[in-house]
Amino acid sequence: MTLTDQILTARPNHKRTREGDQPVSIGAERMSKQLQDADLDELIFVATTGIAARTEGRSMRLADFDESSSLGWVPANLGIGSLGHIVSDIPYGSTGDLRLKPDLGSLARVDGIPGRPPLNIVFADLVNTDGSPWENCPRTFLRNAVEELHTEFGITTRSSFEHEFVDVSATGDHHPFSLQAFRRAEPIGSQLMTVLHRAGLDPETWLPEYGRHQYEITVAPTDPLSAADRAILVRDIVYDLFDAHGREATFAPVVAPGETGNGVHVHFGLDDADGNTLVFDPARPARLSRVAGSFAAGIVRHGPAMAALFAPLATSYLRLAPHNWSTSRAFLGLQNREALLRICPTNEIDGRDPSSQLHFEFRGGDIGANPWILLGMILRAGMQGLREELETPDIIVGELDLDNRHAGLTKLPRDLEAALDTLKADELVSGWFSPSFLATFDAVKRDEFASVQARPLAEQCEVYARVY
Ligand code: GLU
Ligand code: MG
Repeated sequence: MTLTDQILTARPNHKRTREGDQPVSIGAERMSKQLQDADLDELIFVATTGIAARTEGRSMRLADFDESSSLGWVPANLGIGSLGHIVSDIPYGSTGDLRLKPDLGSLARVDGIPGRPPLNIVFADLVNTDGSPWENCPRTFLRNAVEELHTEFGITTRSSFEHEFVDVSATGDHHPFSLQAFRRAEPIGSQLMTVLHRAGLDPETWLPEYGRHQYEITVAPTDPLSAADRAILVRDIVYDLFDAHGREATFAPVVAPGETGNGVHVHFGLDDADGNTLVFDPARPARLSRVAGSFAAGIVRHGPAMAALFAPLATSYLRLAPHNWSTSRAFLGLQNREALLRICPTNEIDGRDPSSQLHFEFRGGDIGANPWILLGMILRAGMQGLREELETPDIIVGELDLDNRHAGLTKLPRDLEAALDTLKADELVSGWFSPSFLATFDAVKRDEFASVQARPLAEQCEVYARVY
């Protein structure tokens, strides 16, 4: 008997699927596949992530878990900021209740962290106690954006998140991209790739990056909800693995003043309902279709207002500076790593077809951003570009020349406080969120900014390096 069978038969009110019955849902199939090696004495962590973009939730015995399980949650938890406390002056207090409703399709089993039991984890949507969606559920924010893109425009998308982080326990010299740095991270690097593979996260590359003791991990593209779920898992698996080895990793945007930043880059394409690219048009500049150009225009136009949410830490703005290979201006760039939105290169070796490869990379994000909200905003801003049929923005080709030719490019906000003001002033972007979400986000972030900004720069970086 498989574990899922055991779980299903152990629950009296559970409709078992027998031969000849309707096939089980994708969620149940995934549950059965993921949990086939699990032991009923293991725990399952039911997870969400909020404004602080830390993975939060509750666990229960796997033996007690089934398709109808949900766990309690509290609306005021939305007000837990990066510094780990609920700020005052938010619309939520000690009353009110929600449920964490697991999406079985997101279930993952993380096995292979030395000395630690396997982690069964499932992502949850936040719902009211009657099962209706909670207006401030970040996962539902992305789910709705994906749905709208599909119903209103017939567009689907695939996405992947790239993460950079620093091994803060490493000492000695770091030569960028070196074999020595790669080997120094062993056996963690090999274990990381294996754990991600076994958990179904499709790891692609693991590399020593440019910055001091900086590494990068990439996973393959998938549907947007799974891509954002994967992003959450990747960071937690990295933390777990480094911690299990007595080492410490941080994804903080800048680990110390003057050091190379850690970005969270979001890759995405646009496809029709059959999975054919809508991005590629060889007859147009940069081979970018009209549709893709309008989509990009929405993102570029609303980039500054989205900054508070994609770069939500006080030190995010140390990273978002010129000459950092991150971005300080809202523009579309052809293969340019200082662009907010980059048109990525294609691999045409041996006559490979570029059409399905051409896609965008959103480079503004960092670890402080909630991945569901980050990707949901990118899609929402793009959709606005489609609705208004915006012209393709100027495509910056070649190196950026901020002193002359490109001096007029729209700047991103200079700090978190300015970003919060820019968000407030953009009715479209702020209109994507409920008044209670905006009030909570604003209160959390202003409290954090005031507390962090008062410290010397090095300490500001340290604060976030400890949190992220
Ligand atoms: N470390 C850079 C950042 O902060 C990105 C470097 C790269 O292009 O990989 O976003
Ligand atoms: Mg990189």
